[in-house]
Amino acid sequence: MIQGTPPILQLNPWQQSLAQSVTDPAVLLDRLNLPLSLLPAARQAAELFGLKVPLPYLSRIKKADINDPLLRQVLPIGEELVHVDGFSHDPVADQAAMQTPGLLHKYHGRALILATGACGIHCRYCFRRHFNYAEANPARQQWQQALRHLRADKTINEVILSGGDPLSLSDSRLAELLHEIEKIKHIKRLRIHSRLPVVLPERVTTHLCELLSNSHLTTIMVVHINHAQEIDNSVKSICKQLLKTGTQMLNQSVLLSGVNDSVQSLCNLSEKLVDCGVMPYYLHQLDRVAGAAHFEISDQQALQLLNELHSRLSGYMVPRLVREIAGETGKSAL
Ligand SMILES: *Cc1c(COP(=O)(O)O)cnc(C)c1O
Ligand code: SF4
Repeated sequence: MIQGTPPILQLNPWQQSLAQSVTDPAVLLDRLNLPLSLLPAARQAAELFGLKVPLPYLSRIKKADINDPLLRQVLPIGEELVHVDGFSHDPVADQAAMQTPGLLHKYHGRALILATGACGIHCRYCFRRHFNYAEANPARQQWQQALRHLRADKTINEVILSGGDPLSLSDSRLAELLHEIEKIKHIKRLRIHSRLPVVLPERVTTHLCELLSNSHLTTIMVVHINHAQEIDNSVKSICKQLLKTGTQMLNQSVLLSGVNDSVQSLCNLSEKLVDCGVMPYYLHQLDRVAGAAHFEISDQQALQLLNELHSRLSGYMVPRLVREIAGETGKSAL
């Protein structure tokens, strides 16, 4: 090191890319040739839940189209500030279910670790948009508590890494966590829920693939893709790479008004997923989180969409339509 040079924080290339994400509403509008009249509301809404769009995702948004389905998922808008009855800050009662900090054990056989509070992208409909991540503290110390719970409860055979986005952790920290989980004899499966392979494909590093390939656990990755336009060639090739590690690839979407609430859009998504080797798993009814009411679709509409999907697609291409009900021991079918 040259004398006098301040220490440089070592970031991996993908972390550097992530650091270049657009977080300023003015920059987003400018890059996408959108009218500046959207700025005041965007700024106000971003104060409650910040804007964050990684560049690969930004590149898939059509310019000068206020109705673009990808834009709608990331652009803060005035509707988020409107109070709507029935929409609350913790709609699925996660805080209440968290006996061990950073660990949710609500469903039989499965325990969910909130591995980190950080995300690769900020989705406006996120049910954790008000979640107190500081309290759910995902730091190493908390993993120790979560790991103790996993070790002690032999009924748990699947660990789900969630967050935030667990792949916002560095490979070395993930490896640390994974190796601790692998030492627990009754854990057979590891499931990772992440949006990063989609919003920043380069996050899927060679090291990550090796971690997955070398694990004796059955590995499953659930990517969160809501629209076919989110899948470009880079996403497709990363999915294929993950499949080569022996990881089963599933997708979960949220049914979102103005994004994917049409038969055509859902058909396109399922077909494109399957062509990437990713099986449609869940189609979620929106969790009723404050600030996301404008994304809601009625149950009747949702069921009608599902019926039409059944009539148009191969059976395996139709995701299960579910909703999370606070206090239930699994997702409920609609
Ligand atoms: C959704 C969820 C799971 C996983 O449920 P599956 O139906 O197995 O996908 C596990 N734990 C919690 C707390 C969840 O919210
Ligand atoms: S990636 Fe998931 S947890 Fe993060 S903001 Fe989007 S929906 Fe929420």
